[in-house]
Amino acid sequence: MSADELSPLFCDRCVRELTPGKGNFYVIKIEAVADPTPPCFTEEDLEADIQGEMRALMDELHGLSQREVIAQVHARLNIYLCTPCYQKWIENPTG
Ligand SMILES: [Zn+2]
Repeated sequence: MSADELSPLFCDRCVRELTPGKGNFYVIKIEAVADPTPPCFTEEDLEADIQGEMRALMDELHGLSQREVIAQVHARLNIYLCTPCYQKWIENPTG
């Protein structure tokens, strides 16, 4: 068992304590990835000053910490919900 599994779990909506092994809660694993499609270039894009645009982009990224950059393209989180909260949530997950 990892330290993570030993720490008490609470419902992320109603803060009820959850008991692992009792089957009275759900873990919702969310993985968010920025559009993974490779960029597609039009002929106009190829004629444009790509190097200049890349430099501008790098300058922009440089202003952010490494952590912030990663958070912008990729995020992973676990949400713990007790059964009643899960049943309400799953009806409208994006609400
Ligand atoms: Zn709950």
